[in-house]
Amino acid sequence: MNATQTQVRLACAAPIEKGARCRHDAAEGSIYCKQHQDHPPTKPYQPNTIIVKGRVNEKWIKRFAAAGVPMKVRNEEAINQRHGDQAEALGRKSHVYTDVLNDGGTPVFGKQGAQNVSMSGSLNELIGIGFVPVDCHMFRRDDKKDEFMAMVSVTLRFDEEVESTVPDEVLSVLDQYTDSNFEWIHVWANEEKDDKSIPNTINLVHRRPNDLPEYKLVYNNGLWNVVPITR
Ligand SMILES: [Zn+2]
Repeated sequence: MNATQTQVRLACAAPIEKGARCRHDAAEGSIYCKQHQDHPPTKPYQPNTIIVKGRVNEKWIKRFAAAGVPMKVRNEEAINQRHGDQAEALGRKSHVYTDVLNDGGTPVFGKQGAQNVSMSGSLNELIGIGFVPVDCHMFRRDDKKDEFMAMVSVTLRFDEEVESTVPDEVLSVLDQYTDSNFEWIHVWANEEKDDKSIPNTINLVHRRPNDLPEYKLVYNNGLWNVVPITR
C-alpha cells in the first residue's frame, strides 16, 4: 500500500457558468473557495447523473457477462474529441488535468484524485436517496485488441420518472466489484448538458482487493468526499 495520504483536496461547491462546478479548492472549513465564500451562490452544485467506470479483467468480464451485462465497442477518439469541444465552449483548457483524455469537468478531489478508497456500499447509498440505475454495459476501445480487458460502466439518474433497467443480479455483481480498495478514485463533476443532465463520472483506478482501503467514498449531497475508515 502506498504512503498514507495526509489530506484530500476537495473542489469548491459553487456552480459557475453553464452549471459547471468551480475548479478552485474549497477553503479550509468551508465548502466554497475564498472567492465564493465572499459571494456564495444561492445553492451548491449538484449532479443528477452518476456514471461509475472501472477496468475489468477476464474474471470480471465473465461475471458481468453471466449476469447479462452486454459488451460494446466504443470509439474513444470520438468521445475524446467531444469532451475537448465542451471544455473549449466553457473557455477551459481541456488538457490541464491529463495528457491522455480531454475532459471539461472539474476534478472533485484535485488533479491527483483520492487514494486508497473503497466504494463499498456507495451504489446502495445512491439508490437509497433516489438515484435509479438506468444502464450497465462493458466496453472496449475499438483500437484495443486485448479481449481480456475492458471497462464496466454503470449509469444512475436522479429522476422520479424513470424506472430501473438494471437487474438485481447485475447490481449484486457491481456491489462485489466496488467492494474493494481502489488505488485511486477520480470524480469528475461536469456542466449541465443539453438534455438537462448534470453528470458526474467516477473513475475507479487499480482495483486492489487485497489491500485495506483507508477511505470510503460518500455522496455528501452531491459534493462527494472520502471519509476515513476506522477499524
Ligand atoms: Zn469557487
